[in-house]
Amino acid sequence: MEYKHSVPQIEKQILAKLEHGYGVGLENATNDQIYKSVALIAREMMEQGCSEFMAEAEKTKTKQVYYLCMEFLLGRSLKNTLFNLGVENDFREALRQMGVKLDSLYDCEPDAGLGNGGLGRLAACFMDALATQRYPAMGYSLCYEYGIFRQKLVDGWQTELPDFWLPGGRIWMHEIPEKAVEVHFRGHVEERWHNNYHECIHKDYTTIMAVPCDMYIAGMDGKGVSRLRLWKSKGESFDMGLFNSGNYMRAMEQNAMAESITKVLYPEDNHPEGKSLRLTQQYFLVSASIQDIIRTHLFQYATLDNLPDTVAIHLNDTHPVLAIPELMRIMLDECGYDWDHAWDITTRTVAYTNHTVMKEALECWSQELFKMQLPRIYQIVEEINRRFCQQMHDIGVDGYKVGRMAPLNDGYVKMANLAVVGSHSVNGVSALHSDILKKTVFNDFYTEMPEKFTNVTNGIAHRRWLNQSNPELANLLTQKIGRGYIYDASQLKKLEAFKDDKAVLKELAEIKHHNKERLAAYIKKENNVTVDPDSIFDVQVKRMHEYKRQHLNALNILATYLWLKDNPNADFVPHTYIFGAKAAPGYYFAKQMIRFIYKLGQLINNDPAVNQKMKVIYIEDYRVTLAELLIPAADISEQISLAGTEASGTSNMKFMINGAVTLGTLDGANVEIHDSVGDDNMLLFGMTTPEVEILRKDGYHPEQIYYNNPAVHCAIDYMRGGVNGVEFGDIVHSLTTNDPYMVLADFDSYQKAQGRAVKLYRNPETWQRMCLINIANAGRFAADRAIREYADNIWHCKPVPSSTAPGTDAFATK
Ligand SMILES: *Cc1c(COP(=O)(O)O)cnc(C)c1O
Repeated sequence: MEYKHSVPQIEKQILAKLEHGYGVGLENATNDQIYKSVALIAREMMEQGCSEFMAEAEKTKTKQVYYLCMEFLLGRSLKNTLFNLGVENDFREALRQMGVKLDSLYDCEPDAGLGNGGLGRLAACFMDALATQRYPAMGYSLCYEYGIFRQKLVDGWQTELPDFWLPGGRIWMHEIPEKAVEVHFRGHVEERWHNNYHECIHKDYTTIMAVPCDMYIAGMDGKGVSRLRLWKSKGESFDMGLFNSGNYMRAMEQNAMAESITKVLYPEDNHPEGKSLRLTQQYFLVSASIQDIIRTHLFQYATLDNLPDTVAIHLNDTHPVLAIPELMRIMLDECGYDWDHAWDITTRTVAYTNHTVMKEALECWSQELFKMQLPRIYQIVEEINRRFCQQMHDIGVDGYKVGRMAPLNDGYVKMANLAVVGSHSVNGVSALHSDILKKTVFNDFYTEMPEKFTNVTNGIAHRRWLNQSNPELANLLTQKIGRGYIYDASQLKKLEAFKDDKAVLKELAEIKHHNKERLAAYIKKENNVTVDPDSIFDVQVKRMHEYKRQHLNALNILATYLWLKDNPNADFVPHTYIFGAKAAPGYYFAKQMIRFIYKLGQLINNDPAVNQKMKVIYIEDYRVTLAELLIPAADISEQISLAGTEASGTSNMKFMINGAVTLGTLDGANVEIHDSVGDDNMLLFGMTTPEVEILRKDGYHPEQIYYNNPAVHCAIDYMRGGVNGVEFGDIVHSLTTNDPYMVLADFDSYQKAQGRAVKLYRNPETWQRMCLINIANAGRFAADRAIREYADNIWHCKPVPSSTAPGTDAFATK
């Protein structure tokens, strides 16, 4: 597929879209209309690219990857699409000739915020890597009418506003009503013997229609395009019976109920809600997707016997785990398979990625609720459970252990257990996390079936997070090491040859400075605070969570402030501390953490004794588009979770590839960042996972630290007295009594790492060399590498063959 058009052709296409879509000429067109016209052209290019790519995949019988996930945090699409299709410059020029700035069109696009944080962003990065490497792939998720809420701080207190993303976002979607499927809920199951065959018939169910809305993600140079199929719920075609009998209102009500299923994304990150509507959402996604997969497969092959050879179904976390019993249901009830054959096919097709080891984040559903909503699926889970327990007993596993592994236990459906039992592969998302899985949550399983367990360390779409969001750095890299790294991020390593090249180090510093100025302008506009681009930009952006320990960072800032007040003449390198994070709306403690940081900002930014040396900025409504602005401007990347709590982290990787130095614990993928760059190029601090365990076992007493460490003591006492007029009793109480995430235990070590950072930063060359080494070693954290590992070791699939392999032509000529 050729995406290139001449500049005059592009201009003509845009004018045609304006005329056909809005009946306006260029003179009368609004920016929004021009954005939508350009977006529509971009979408149509991807649609065509996708259908050509899928046709090739079908012709070559290439194994299909289906990636099921409740969240895809896509952010914006226009820049990514034009960049990846290699037409951004031509569009920029065509628009310039029309008197329109392409960058102003980018700003018309709302983020597609169909996710909470790292998990949803990972899924989005994976779609890019699948497309670029020509693995035929479809993502499946829900078309939430409202994505992640818009965050507004009112005197530092988070309030949530609805995310109206569809008016600007719908242009990227292609609704396909003729591919709608039915999803059945509630009702009851009738069992009977029929021709010596035990039949289960689901009766009196409620039908909800699932309508697919497709989006597309173009890979680099457009040789592969991924499809993202988002399901929208709709009432069964208007119930004429109810309508005719005069029951208008009931007919309307039923439609409203149906349409509420995909109304809104649950805004809890790493914390399940246990609400009935959420279970409904999960089954709705899974049932529609599995039916769609089977329909597509039967159309090509007319049998399900070869499903594991031609299809890989991936479950991103436990949210879509009902895919396992749903696949069983279709094979048993609709295709006439016996249990053993169906189970063999299912387990060889499905694989599962775990994303958390925190007990409170492991999903389980009450059996009662589950049975009422999904009676037939419940029966199948019961049978999966019965057979699994029997099998374990038969090989001599003790009863307690079998109970701990059982999908049904204690009146709950244990989603993680069902996932492990029903898939052929279970992976964690960083080396440390996969190790912890084997030692803790899945230890029982690991001892019985070690061959199922593996690791795939997460990765990021480096073309978005480096080339698109940091174009100056990308240009420098291309000048120095060529364009190969765009396809093969391991080539970033070539940059290491320049680690003592003073001119290159100076250029890196200048690029960082420009990015800091760009961010400073945004902060001036949004927060009305002036920040100094020559100060250290120390950035912590991610969801607000106790385990991520933004309060450790904040407590140090408060302690530093109090120290500076006492030592006004100290030689202090100016700092700008930047935060951005949403809290789950019901997570009261996290909301207080936000307010604490916000009030700290008010106190410090308005105190003339220190505000030339320190600033604290809380950026409202953190999202992908802001991450793209913030991360390239960071000097220090704060990755300070308690060891053993963060599964991987991906923003740590985004910062690294943009030349920020990680100040972090040995947690998640930080461990592998440390392996890559060594002690000298990372600011390590804090306890290791085994040290955390030992301290827990021996008895942790935060109150002793409070009494013994004067900096901690002063800061906590100050908080108790009120920060800019607001007391934070809950945080003080938590820190000084049980301190579940051991903030105080790591505090001293954190302060020392901050001290080392300043020493290194004072020598610009040393600092820039650290930045360079981080960039040069970030290649292993590309999503391309992660996807190749999934393809080779878990899905056992290959790219669609192409006569012109990516990387050979498109860039050789430039
Ligand atoms: C990458 C990303 C995250 C994940 O951040 P972590 O620090 O890895 O938790 C969350 N939100 C957004 C908007 C991101 O881009």
